Amino acid sequence: MNANFDLNESPMIVIWETTQACDLACCHCRASAQAKRHPLELTTLEAEKLIRDVADVRPPIFILTGGDPLKRPDIFYLVRRAVAHGLHPAMTPSATPLLTREAIADLKRARLSRMAVSLDGSVPEIHDAFRGVPGSYARTLDAIHWANEFGLPIQVNTSISRRNMHDLENMANLLKNFKLVLWSSFFLVPTGRAQMDDLLSADEVEEAFGTLYRFSKELPFKVKTTEAQHYRRYIIQQRIKSRGQGAVEINGHGWEKAVPGLLPINDGKGFIFISHTGNVCPSGFLPVSAGNVRVKGLGEIYRDSPLLVSLRDTANLQGKCGECEYREICGGSRARAFAVTGNMFAQDPCCNYIPASMRKSEEPEASVLAAQA
Ligand code: SF4
Ligand code: SF4
Repeated sequence: MNANFDLNESPMIVIWETTQACDLACCHCRASAQAKRHPLELTTLEAEKLIRDVADVRPPIFILTGGDPLKRPDIFYLVRRAVAHGLHPAMTPSATPLLTREAIADLKRARLSRMAVSLDGSVPEIHDAFRGVPGSYARTLDAIHWANEFGLPIQVNTSISRRNMHDLENMANLLKNFKLVLWSSFFLVPTGRAQMDDLLSADEVEEAFGTLYRFSKELPFKVKTTEAQHYRRYIIQQRIKSRGQGAVEINGHGWEKAVPGLLPINDGKGFIFISHTGNVCPSGFLPVSAGNVRVKGLGEIYRDSPLLVSLRDTANLQGKCGECEYREICGGSRARAFAVTGNMFAQDPCCNYIPASMRKSEEPEASVLAAQA
């Protein structure tokens, strides 16, 4: 991805919720998915118009998500339309009997650029309990094998919560046997069916960051996070520490020197979500509409919506995030702040970092940042 991309002009990642229908019943489903398709979801014609809109904003990443995209009979056609418009569509199908070897071969033929499947535990007892349907674990592993067989790049997504935090090490041991391009860890946002009780504490999140950071050095594929913007703060701290550098001016663009390639993407800032009925939201985990693609173009909504403009302005951040020297590169999860407090500008409740300006003078400077100075 290009660090010079203007995140006020265009999103880098566009996610379209093709449908909310899904045959799984995950305990943490942000969409509260149901088996039947919603009568008001975008029609094929409207979906084609949306694809043209997306092509106009030229995002490097365009993801067809759900629900389960395979619940739409026109999904293979829509993948082909996206490719025809110069996009590189990826997809997150659900591990159900619809995800057959033939379906994966068809997706490859349609020139899908990547498929992502969810795996939330190293054994069926953990994963299937998460997903609410027995057999989902076996189907997921089959899908990974089939994608490998057809040369379709495959990513694994894992939702991290209190239910599976203890299993991360086992999952890494399982996943290193597969040919993956990426392992993406989603940090829980208590919205939809996800429960507050499953949310990790800020200290537990920091512990998970340590584990993922180690994995990122050990595993043969990339490791990234979703709705854990402060993992970037963690990476910067670790890199500075390991290089023995002096204190870095983080409060501007110091991170670019510390860790080139990190991007300040956040909900509504470089990242945009279109719901099954066409509502444009900062994230699927932050279901507040900035406009609808049935009445306005996606690019116009992204650039001009007061909601999105205000989310992109870090001067609006409150609490620790508003004070934090990492706010430009991190800014905290706006979705989690909203889900937990009802205020999308509040501090991310799952970050344990104390900004320099809020530390007591007798405290050692920066638990991590300046420790290496
Ligand atoms: S697979 Fe995805 S859409 Fe389906 S119930 Fe689970 S979280 Fe929801
Ligand atoms: S306090 Fe907020 S901005 Fe600072 S690192 Fe934590 S989540 Fe990020």
